[in-house]
Amino acid sequence: MRHQIVIIGGGPSGLLLAQLLLKQGIDAVVLERQTRAHVLGRIRAGVLEMGFVDQMREAGVADRMEREGLLHDGTILSYNDREVRIDFRKHAGRPVTIYGQTEVTRDLYEARDATGGTTYFEVADVTLHGMEGDTPYVTFRHDGQDKRIDCDFIAGCDGFHGVSRKSIPDSVRKDYERVYPFGWLGVLSETPPVNNELIYASSDRGFALCSMRNMNLSRYYVQCSAEDRVENWSDARFWEELRRRIPPDAAERIVTGPSIEKSIAPLRSFVTEPMRFGRLFLCGDAAHIVPPTGAKGLNSAASDVYYLFQGLKAFYADGETDGLDSYSQKALDRVWKVERFSWWMTSLLHRFPDQSAFDQKMQEAEIAFLSESEAAQEALARNYVGLPY
Ligand SMILES: Cc1cc2nc3c(=O)[nH]c(=O)nc-3n(C[C@H](O)[C@H](O)[C@H](O)COP(=O)(O)OP(=O)(O)OC[C@H]3O[C@@H](n4cnc5c(N)ncnc54)[C@H](O)[C@@H]3O)c2cc1C
Repeated sequence: MRHQIVIIGGGPSGLLLAQLLLKQGIDAVVLERQTRAHVLGRIRAGVLEMGFVDQMREAGVADRMEREGLLHDGTILSYNDREVRIDFRKHAGRPVTIYGQTEVTRDLYEARDATGGTTYFEVADVTLHGMEGDTPYVTFRHDGQDKRIDCDFIAGCDGFHGVSRKSIPDSVRKDYERVYPFGWLGVLSETPPVNNELIYASSDRGFALCSMRNMNLSRYYVQCSAEDRVENWSDARFWEELRRRIPPDAAERIVTGPSIEKSIAPLRSFVTEPMRFGRLFLCGDAAHIVPPTGAKGLNSAASDVYYLFQGLKAFYADGETDGLDSYSQKALDRVWKVERFSWWMTSLLHRFPDQSAFDQKMQEAEIAFLSESEAAQEALARNYVGLPY
């Protein structure tokens, strides 16, 4: 078999890239390890930057997002009894869109069905070959058969645990990593959100986030120990702990209900360099991970897709290779700024197990400065709504 591009991974970055390419008449096949239902069932991101929404528009997949997505003009940060509202419109001139990753993925798969792109689900033993030459190919098993696809380029969109990054030799690749000594316990419930904007709350008992997917679907998180287990958290215990960490007026009005999903996510900062090896390009979680505090994971996957799509478009239009040659550097320049923001928000709002009284005073002073300084609020707002591509 031959396709112009092989995309490994049918998550949001692989699907978005495939759809953008298809609209330009560039043929990309998608290989996904899981079933479609499994990919659609993963509860993850929910805050989208304008840049992400613009790309969904360019891919022709934004209709439902524009109808059902919620625009948020700001967010609340609380630290014990101090509260600061960050006004996105005032400081950064644009809002963020609340629309679940499950819905993004569903829209992209439906668009792919309608336009007829090929996707192989439940593939195994995906192996990348010939990336350093001009004739790369990918082998895999599907439906009990060994298959081979020859291509011009390979896009590694297969997430943190995928095969693409590991196919770059250790002698070429440098990994940077920080693992945080806590996780996030998340609960999804069919209840109205406690507030019309997100609340990021830091208390002496740890961090909590009040988020949402729509006006009848709330997503709440509490910081928990990295070793904690979901089985330790009944719904009643979760709601009680959440109430104790968020501002008292929110705790009083919160509507609780049975959880329809509950999971613990570890927190990690990770970047691999370079993001290109010959004819292989890494995109999204395959190349970098952020702790979810700044809502940046899915959004930085989208900025990679933007740079790679521009490079591939120019290559197929007139053989121009500048975009592809500068892909890794351009993507990494933005990724590192996003890593810094996510690390900063995480450091500011969580209680660390080894945190000293001095460290806590530093957090308090930072929040006090933020509440008094329009410039500091602007810096936060600009990062939160998304740095330019
Ligand atoms: C709890 C939580 C909350 C989050 N909240 C936010 C948020 O608010 N905002 C935000 O922007 N981001 C958020 N994120 C991050 C966001 O979900 C990820 O950054 C995003 O899913 C990255 O998309 P991706 O397509 O690069 O990778 P993935 O979504 O991981 O997709 C990769 C795909 O590749 C497949 N795959 C893996 N290995 C192989 C293989 N060998 N062969 C073939 N296929 C393979 C996988 O099955 C998967 O479908 C959150 C993440 C978590 C865990």
